[in-house]
Amino acid sequence: MLKVDLHCHSNVSDGVLAPAAVAQHARKAGVDVWALTDHDEVGGIPAARAAAQEQGMRFVTGVEISITWANETVHIVGLQIDENNAGLVNGLACTRSGRDNRGREIANQLAKVGIEGAYEGALKYVGNPDLMSRTHFARYLVEIGVCANIPDVFKKYLSEGKPGYVPHCWASLADSVNWIRGAGGIAVIAHPGRYRFSQLAQGQLFDEFKQLGGAAIEVVTGSHTPEQYPIYAQLANSYGFLASRGTDFHAPGESRVDFALLPPLPANVTPVWHDWF
Ligand code: AMP
Ligand code: MN
Ligand code: MN
Ligand code: MN
Repeated sequence: MLKVDLHCHSNVSDGVLAPAAVAQHARKAGVDVWALTDHDEVGGIPAARAAAQEQGMRFVTGVEISITWANETVHIVGLQIDENNAGLVNGLACTRSGRDNRGREIANQLAKVGIEGAYEGALKYVGNPDLMSRTHFARYLVEIGVCANIPDVFKKYLSEGKPGYVPHCWASLADSVNWIRGAGGIAVIAHPGRYRFSQLAQGQLFDEFKQLGGAAIEVVTGSHTPEQYPIYAQLANSYGFLASRGTDFHAPGESRVDFALLPPLPANVTPVWHDWF
């Protein structure tokens, strides 16, 4: 059986390894079909594609778009996109554009609770000046010993209601799905089990996504607990969605699940790649 992994990050967004190094890391862990899905950015794709081909892996183009839906941040993965499509490229550029100012505001807020120099500190971890992420702040706060690990930083500082949280309005659900489909791609709701929606709201998100032409949800991801795999497999089937799978790898030792350790999709779903090869 082919090992397919369709969600991970390089230092072109908030991962640590360069795209080619992520490809090597995935291949070593036995991945046969691989997508790089950096946040709001397709700039890593050429290097990722070349490295994947060198490693003998099938490459799938990808991106993970930040959107705001019902006042929450949701992530929509696009697969099999044409990364040069103008509508997609322009939409992503627009989505990225507020990130630097947001980073400065995060740093201002952290300074108010006694953490100085966080903008410059986070910047040390940024591989792409267009893509300052909360993850970069989290790495810095761990570095200076304010928190023991990255989830702890999010819990204490970077999530809603905490002193380093700056609300941000991302793209809309409709924009993201239209950009992906306009670029010939397949839209996938990333890690649906991670959002804090009621069952009712989650159902509304799925319905709206389906109406817009969304095709799949992630079922097995490093951002789900193993208990969530069968729940989202069942939901994929009941909504008529295809199922996707990917580690959401960010860095060796940092991500919950590395490429070799993520289980396969449950047998009762239709994989998003069912008609690709
Ligand atoms: P941003 O796009 O700048 O808002 O940052 C979002 C990123 O932060 C996600 O893609 C994850 O990589 C990371 N993240 C969000 N919440 C958590 C958490 N609770 N623990 C660890 N990483 C998180
Ligand atoms: Mn991330
Ligand atoms: Mn995500
Ligand atoms: Mn991700």
